[in-house]
Amino acid sequence: MKSLYSGPVFQMARDQFHVIADHLEIPEDHRDRLLYPKRAIVVSVPIHMDDGRQEVFAGFRVQHHLTLGPAKGGTRFAPNVDIGEIAALAVWMSWKCALADLPYGGGKGGVAVDPHALSLNELENLSRRYMQEMIPFVGPRVDVMAPDMGTNEQIMAWFMDTYSMYQGVTVPEIVTGKPVGSGGTLGRREATGHGVAFLAFRAMEALEINPVGATAIIQGFGNVGSHAALGLAARGVKIVGVSDHTAAYYDADGLPVRELCDRVAKTGELGGWSDEAVIGAREFLEQPCDVLAPCAVERVIDADVARRLKCRIIAEGANGPTTPEADRVLAERNDAIFVIPDILCNAGGVIVSYFEWVQDLQQYFWSKDEVMDRLERALDRSWGMVVARAKRDLVSNRTAAMAIGVERVRKAKQSRGLFP
Ligand code: NAD
Repeated sequence: MKSLYSGPVFQMARDQFHVIADHLEIPEDHRDRLLYPKRAIVVSVPIHMDDGRQEVFAGFRVQHHLTLGPAKGGTRFAPNVDIGEIAALAVWMSWKCALADLPYGGGKGGVAVDPHALSLNELENLSRRYMQEMIPFVGPRVDVMAPDMGTNEQIMAWFMDTYSMYQGVTVPEIVTGKPVGSGGTLGRREATGHGVAFLAFRAMEALEINPVGATAIIQGFGNVGSHAALGLAARGVKIVGVSDHTAAYYDADGLPVRELCDRVAKTGELGGWSDEAVIGAREFLEQPCDVLAPCAVERVIDADVARRLKCRIIAEGANGPTTPEADRVLAERNDAIFVIPDILCNAGGVIVSYFEWVQDLQQYFWSKDEVMDRLERALDRSWGMVVARAKRDLVSNRTAAMAIGVERVRKAKQSRGLFP
């Protein structure tokens, strides 16, 4: 079992889990059942390319556990996706869903592909064939997919349509993050970034930082990063840095967030926007700011970067942006950077995905105000629990958040027992 899941990202999820397991004094022989996924599916995804060739892509789906309900989690289209990374992301989803008290286990999927290198027609072929390969393993009560890096509302609509064509009826509850009008919910598009900004404001309150005139740097300018930037800017925070996979910009006087969002909507990337504000990708993270929000990929804050950070708050929009070694460096620094850990900070996405699933099952849709109000109340509940637990046990926010998540999954497994 152990050798099935390898690579630096799974190693990181495993190391984090053992820190929590030690903290919770979980017996050694109970640990593997909590950590290793229930199921991992690997498929070949063959498609017709526009030039007439056939190409085969590797597709993955990991269902970490089904103890509390269906698996729930995004689908990532990125070149370096592998089973270890997907398994790690599924494990983190489990602790995230449990922390938010959602009736789900963690899931995650992906295809090893650069989506920017495909035409729209090829992207549709890939999305539909991937879902078709997954039909025997997913279902509204088994595993519910959502968007993640490299996927979006359109791809979710193709997933839903493909699954529905096979069932002979429309099954909107098979995926979340769909377009509004095809069973999607109002507020899902901005939910994750809105949550990141909302919790960054909670942290600013705790540190007595006035948002008006405070500064933020956002790494990753896709769904999560752009909405986090808009949410922060809406309450007076000056966005001094933004980056994506093509460029990083920094300007101490502030960047025009709306203009940058329009540019990305039009061209798909930040690259080429300006020659003046360009900065190196690593240096970018180390500029002074109040809030640093990594909203792109895993492991961008390593021990070296952690030593040089000049922010006061890290708001983890991405999954797994901070390595365990960096966590140790942050704990040792005497300026106490306040970390809002990923499973709390980016939970807005899965919380509103849960609302979408509930609305689809009931075929009864809510107003945007109702969605956002319920989202903020849910985030506040988790925030309160994490901060109180960290204070009570004298542990980091990450340890507190993960301890609550792991404990909930463990309790559910214990009360259900081990069959046979
Ligand atoms: P996205 O595909 O919409 O955007 C990703 C962004 O990151 C793009 O701007 C891309 O250019 C940038 N990027 C990629 N590699 C980079 C690098 N090395 N350096 C700088 N920028 C880079 O994806 P998203 O949905 O915004 O997801 C971003 C992160 O948030 C991922 O870690 C994802 O797992 C996590 N997340 C997403 C959601 C959601 O609802 N979409 C929910 C929870 C967590």
